[in-house]
This record gives sequence, C-alpha cells and structure tokens, in this order.
Amino acid sequence: MSVTETCFVSHLEGAIDGARLEPQRIHTLHEGRPIWVRYDLDSIRHAVTKNDLVGRPPNIWRYKELLPVFDMSKLVSFGEGMSPLLNSPRLGTSLGIEDLWIKDESQLPTGSFKSRGMAMAVTMANHFGITSVALPTAGNAGGAAAAYAARAGMTCHVFMPEDTPMINQYEAMAYGANAYRVNGLINDCGRIVNEGKEIKGWFDLSTLKEPYRIEGKKTMGLELAEQFDWQLPDAIFYPTGGGTGLIGMWKAFQELKTLGWLESDKLPRMYSVQSSGCAPIVEAFDNDEKHATPYSNAHSIASGIRVPAAVGDFMILDAVRQSGGKAIRVEESRIGEWMRLGMSREGISICPETGACIGAVEACLENGTVSETDRVVIYNTGAAQKYAEALACEMPSIDKDLPIDWSSI
Ligand SMILES: *Cc1c(COP(=O)(O)O)cnc(C)c1O
Repeated sequence: MSVTETCFVSHLEGAIDGARLEPQRIHTLHEGRPIWVRYDLDSIRHAVTKNDLVGRPPNIWRYKELLPVFDMSKLVSFGEGMSPLLNSPRLGTSLGIEDLWIKDESQLPTGSFKSRGMAMAVTMANHFGITSVALPTAGNAGGAAAAYAARAGMTCHVFMPEDTPMINQYEAMAYGANAYRVNGLINDCGRIVNEGKEIKGWFDLSTLKEPYRIEGKKTMGLELAEQFDWQLPDAIFYPTGGGTGLIGMWKAFQELKTLGWLESDKLPRMYSVQSSGCAPIVEAFDNDEKHATPYSNAHSIASGIRVPAAVGDFMILDAVRQSGGKAIRVEESRIGEWMRLGMSREGISICPETGACIGAVEACLENGTVSETDRVVIYNTGAAQKYAEALACEMPSIDKDLPIDWSSI
C-alpha cells in the first residue's frame, strides 16, 4: 500500500544565518552549522487538535504532524517514546524540592534517549534512499545508530575512542555495525568519518550534522507537555553534551506555544548541566559568549556529556538564555554519589549524566536559583546498566560476605 501522508514541513533553515533551504533533499550542515526543520504551523493548527492525540499509540509518531514524516511506510522504529514521567517524592525530600519529577528515558530502546533522535534520522535517511551511515561516538549514539541501521537493513560504521564504555562498544558490534576502536580522541574519529564520506559515500549521522535528530529528540518536550496536561514545569535540568535534546525541547515548546496548545505562555527555565571535567557550554555562558571554546583534557565518567566542542553550541546557549535558565557545572568526583542517591531513593536506573543533574538541582536550591516549591523535572537520559565501569569505580564495594553476621544487617 502506498500511503502519502500530509507532511507539514514548510522548509529547512540555516541556524547560523536563517537561510531558507529546500526540504525535499539530503542536507548535512549549512555554512558549517546545523539546520532547523520548519513547519507550516497554521496548517497544523487547522489539521489537528491536541485532543486528536488521545487515541494514538503511545510513541513518538503520535506527534507525526510536528515531525518530518513524509511517508509512514518508511518509518524505522521500535515503538520508541512516551517514556514515563515519574513523580520522585523521596529524592525530592532528600534534595528539598517538593514537586520533583524524573522523565525516565532509560526505558527507551537501546537504553537511552538516543533512540528518539536515531529513529527520526534513520527514518529520513531511509526516505532518501541512503544505505550506508557512519558516526563517531564515545557513548550511547553508536549502539542506537547500529540498532536502527540494522532495523532498516543499512550498513553502519561506528568509530569510538578507546575509553568509550565497554557496553557501548559491544552493543554497536552486536547490532551488526562495523565497529572500530580508534587510538585517539573523538575528533580523530570524526576525521575518519569525514574521510569515509568522501571515499565511501557514507552518510554522517553525527549529532546535529543532519537536520533530523533534533526533531526526534524534540518529542521529549512534546511528551512532557502532554503528560503535564499542557502546563510546562518551572525548571528542566538536562545533561548537555552535543545539546540535541535541550535544543529540541526548546524548539518543541516554541512550536506548541505558536500552535496555542499550551495552557500558559510561561515556558520552563532550561538548565544545561555539565561536569567540571568537561564544561565548554558553562564557560561560554559565564563569559557571555555566543560560541564555546573547545575544552581541553575533557574527561568524565558521564560519557554522554563529555563533548569538548559542540557544533550547535550557540543554539544551546540561545535556548538557555532565552528561557531564563543557566548553564551549571558540577563536581566530576561526586557524580557517582548523586547517581546512587537517585537510584536508592527512587529505584530508577539513573545514568551518570543524570547524576550530574541531581547535583545541579542540589546546588541551584542552595544558591536560590530554584525554589523548593518550583516544579522541577530532571531528564534521566540513559540506563545505569550501560555504565559497567562507572558503577564498578563509583559505587561502594560489596563486602558483605557470607557467612552473615546477623548483627550487621
Ligand atoms: C548523548 C547523551 C547525553 C547528551 O545528549 P545531547 O542531547 O546530545 O546533549 C546525555 N546523556 C546520555 C545518557 C547520552 O547518551
């Protein structure tokens, strides 16, 4: 059956200069910077209401009018999305926040929210007839890309620095990618992918280097609005690497506001969280700069936010500033402690990146940036079990050997 959906994409737009670009062709970067997807929001307003969403399946495609879905038969999907929004009263009490929520992305396919972006990017690659994709990664993106490529029958090439978490290395390989460990840093991996584009014709799925991963990650914001009955919270804490999720959510909120779907025009303050081991966005924010300076000697157990240079740096900074939020650096050596605090209080599988966010909420409450009555949402972007090395290093040792001394229990 050939199904032609109504797609509401009006055009694409260079983020650095506002140039209007044609939608129906393959795009990468424009002037070396990312590209926005723009919609005809007036037509969407007439075509669909938020009540129309109610009966749709609980996955990202329920928002298809707000996504670049040209052909539903080309979807590459595991049914990702509608992650639970969990109230977190015990962690809230520990931190001193009365109305704390965790949006739990650890339950998505491949154990992280990377699946949202990859579902959309690989769907679009499939739409354009691309058969071979590649990317550099030091974390969850490689596994997600490999899984979606497998589902689409594409070839996938993944290049990872040697310090990439073990599980990320093996999952990429197990999902059938040509996975390579590179003796170098993430930018060396990026260089290899660039060469492969020229020599082998690979399509580059790197963060923000094609226009559609943002759109997939935007669904985190659309879901949050729907789950809170179209009333957005006061503050969102988001662990920031390349920034796709933060940029995407802020875009979602603007689109919902323009559509008139929100109960109130007040948008959340966006807090971009990084580790003291790698905080380029925080430095640029503190110094009032438009772009970030590449961070040297970047290190963090939170591999998803160990991104020394982000091609969309100005888009992250714009979103944070427009929202009245901040970029916040937390102490790398305490990430494991915060991760365990979240896991033990709420039973949620918290990744190190989100551990950093828990630390940021604590700091913001202490210095008055956030008040105890604010409705605060933390994004748990991935599952703890993907970080075997971090767990082994950061958790207390398990030393209660048998035979049990009952008096110690
Ligand atoms: C990739 C990743 C991040 C950072 O995501 P961006 O949206 O690119 O900033 C945060 N947490 C986890 C677990 C990740 O895999």
